[in-house]
Amino acid sequence: MIRTRFAPSPTGYLHIGGLRTSLFSWLWAKKNQGEFLLRIEDTDLARNSEEAVEAILKAFDWVGMSYDGEAIFQSKRFDLYKKYIDQLLEEGKAYKCYMTKEELDQLREEQKAKGERTRYDGRYRDFTGTPPEGVEPVVRIKAPQEGKISFVDGIKGEFSVDASEVDDFIIARSDGTPTYNFVVAIDDALMGLTDVIRGDDHLYNTPKQIVVYEALGFSVPNFYHVAMINNEQGRKLSKRDGATDVMEYKALGYLPEALLNFLVRLGWSHGDQEIFSVEEMIELFDPKDINKSSSNYNLDKLLWLNAHYIKNKPHDDLAELLVDFGVDIRDSDKRDLILNATKERGKTLVELASQINLILNAPSEYNAKNAKKAFKGDAVEILGEFVEMLKGANASTKEEYHAVIESIVAKREIGFGKIGQPLRVSLLGSMTGSGLDEIMAILGTEETIRRVEKAIEFINA
Ligand code: GLU
Repeated sequence: MIRTRFAPSPTGYLHIGGLRTSLFSWLWAKKNQGEFLLRIEDTDLARNSEEAVEAILKAFDWVGMSYDGEAIFQSKRFDLYKKYIDQLLEEGKAYKCYMTKEELDQLREEQKAKGERTRYDGRYRDFTGTPPEGVEPVVRIKAPQEGKISFVDGIKGEFSVDASEVDDFIIARSDGTPTYNFVVAIDDALMGLTDVIRGDDHLYNTPKQIVVYEALGFSVPNFYHVAMINNEQGRKLSKRDGATDVMEYKALGYLPEALLNFLVRLGWSHGDQEIFSVEEMIELFDPKDINKSSSNYNLDKLLWLNAHYIKNKPHDDLAELLVDFGVDIRDSDKRDLILNATKERGKTLVELASQINLILNAPSEYNAKNAKKAFKGDAVEILGEFVEMLKGANASTKEEYHAVIESIVAKREIGFGKIGQPLRVSLLGSMTGSGLDEIMAILGTEETIRRVEKAIEFINA
């Protein structure tokens, strides 16, 4: 069975880069009817927080990704790690090192002075004497001393480092706590992971983790190291480039399906297809198709996708989503009219809500520039005549309102703009927005007349 995982360190919010790698892992598990597991890497008690764990779970929940089984917390597994440290000591695959910090610093200085790579020199590797007093030892693992440590990365291909690049690294600190690469390898093995998909910032941890796998006789999983997301200029994505917190996208009015679609395409492709439902992603995804190089964040693309998903969202769902953005049309008998008139005009739920508010709330004032432009010449007369026509028209549908506009255009032999502009500013206070016939169908004749008469009063004053 394919088993993948997401292993966040809970130091803050869920970053979109983290969501992307976990999406890849999740898709791969789903595609293979496998399991997607969650492991919280919270051994750094000073930097980790409960809220950060909650934030990650909340973001998962929002995008509709769920993990199998119980989440695993590394902070609760110290006894287990201790057991493996003891085992390696007993088997002679690890040893206690009594080097003091001063000695280590001195070694480093000497190596630097000679222009060598700084590395532990193995001085306690075969030590059998009496340990120095007053030094709490660390535990180091015996890394191979010659040859290469290699693996085939599912994205980057063959990857190998010279054994000389990996020293006998520390697996337990002098206070007994285990170190990062040691616990990651143990957990990945014990959780039965077959495929580890993660950011390529971890690429150089992998040889060390392989040393641990081999020392403990665990089988090494497949690794896929995913290139980072860059900004539009090709540099590392940062907060300055826009939102990086997944939940910020919710607040900005993005739909989770748009965000997932956006993220899956950052580094993965299937022909030139751009739109992928989650079902399609599951069907088509294969980590082998992830790009070797970084991909660039592109806000326009995300907006385009979001507009697509908004446009195609069932009205029940849209109405529900809009509540968080200050628009509640769930029980309105005009709900569908309103959404049909506006949903192609909002790239985000924030924009959609503002388009709806523009219609539902009568303008409290007219922007001076708009008014000057739209209310000039015989606009007041045209509006007056329009009100008279409306009173006799008994219109209620979009088509009926459209017919009223057409008849005034025909009667006065004017262009559409002549009535369109003043009417639009009268109704919305704005020069842009949904179609006039749609707006009037939403407002109804009474409210339409009220707004136009108010504009006439304004012009006359
Ligand atoms: N905890 C690591 C991180 O948040 C991920 C470790 C891994 O995926 O192996 O970057």
